[in-house]
Amino acid sequence: MEKIGRRFEGKVAIVTASTQGIGFSIAERLGLEGASVVISSRKQNNVNEAVEKLRARGIQVLGVVCCVSHAQQRKNLIEKTAQKYGKIDVIVSNAAANPSVDAILETQESVLDKLREINVKASVLLLKDAAPHLQKGSSIVFISSIGAYQPPASMAMYGVTKTALLGLTKALASEMGPDTRVNCVAPGFVPTNFASFITKNEAVKKAIEKRTLLNRLGTTEDMAAAAAFLASDDASYITGETLVVAGGIPSRL
Ligand code: NAP
Repeated sequence: MEKIGRRFEGKVAIVTASTQGIGFSIAERLGLEGASVVISSRKQNNVNEAVEKLRARGIQVLGVVCCVSHAQQRKNLIEKTAQKYGKIDVIVSNAAANPSVDAILETQESVLDKLREINVKASVLLLKDAAPHLQKGSSIVFISSIGAYQPPASMAMYGVTKTALLGLTKALASEMGPDTRVNCVAPGFVPTNFASFITKNEAVKKAIEKRTLLNRLGTTEDMAAAAAFLASDDASYITGETLVVAGGIPSRL
C-alpha cells in the first residue's frame, strides 16, 4: 500500500461530486489519512457504491445525495454532516459541468447559466451554508482547471468559469482568514468520465501527453495528493493560492 501520513485524524471533510473520478480519490486520500469523509453526488446508487468502496478501505464515511445546484440538497449535506460530526474542518468543492463545446458567442443562454450556476455559484452557496460549522484552522479547496489560464476553444466558457475560481480563491481567502484558509488545485488532463471526450481519442491523448513535461496524463491520485496537501496543516501558511497539477503544461509564471 502507498505510504501516506495521518494528517486528518479527528478532522471532518466534505468533498462534493465525490462518487468517482478526482472527487472520489480526494475523499479516499483524506479518509486514508484519518478524516471522517462526507461524500456526495446526484445519484443515490453512485453514492451507495462509493460509500461501500471507501468503507472497504477502512474509511469512516457518510454518503449524502447532493446535486450542488439544488439548494435543499446543499443544506441537507451540511445539516447531515453537522448532525453526525458537529463540525466541518475541510471542504473540497469539486463539482463542475461542461455541457457544451460551442464557441462562447454561440453558447445558449441556458447553458451559460448552467455553467455559472454549477461551476461557480454553487460553491459560494455551499460555503455560505457551511460557514457556521467551519472550525478555526479549517481549509477550503476549490478544483479549477489548467483551462482556467488559457481557456481552450473547445471548452472556452467552461474555462472562464474555472478562471473565476482563481479569483474566488483570492477573494474568499481574504474574507475567511485568519480562521479558514482557501486554496485551489488546477488539474491538467486526467482520464476520467468528465474528460473522456478528450482522453479517449488516442491522437488527442498523445498530443496532450507531449504538451506535458512528464510525458503522461495526470491521475486522480495526483490531484488528490495536491488537494490533501493544501487542505492539511502542512500548508498552514498557504492561502489564496492555486496549485497547478498539470505535468508542466504551461499555465503562468
Ligand atoms: P468525473 O470523473 O466525471 O466525476 C464527476 C463526479 O461528479 C461524479 O461523482 C458525479 O456523480 C458528480 N457530479 C456531476 N455533476 C454533479 C452535480 N451537479 N452535483 C454533484 N455531483 C455531481 O469528473 P472529474 O474529471 O473527476 O472532474 C472533477 C473536477 O475536476 C471538476 O471540477 C472538473 O472541472 C475538474 N477537472 C477535471 C479535469 C480532467 O481532466 N478530468 C481537468 C481539469 C479539471 P453523479 O453522476 O452521481 O452526480
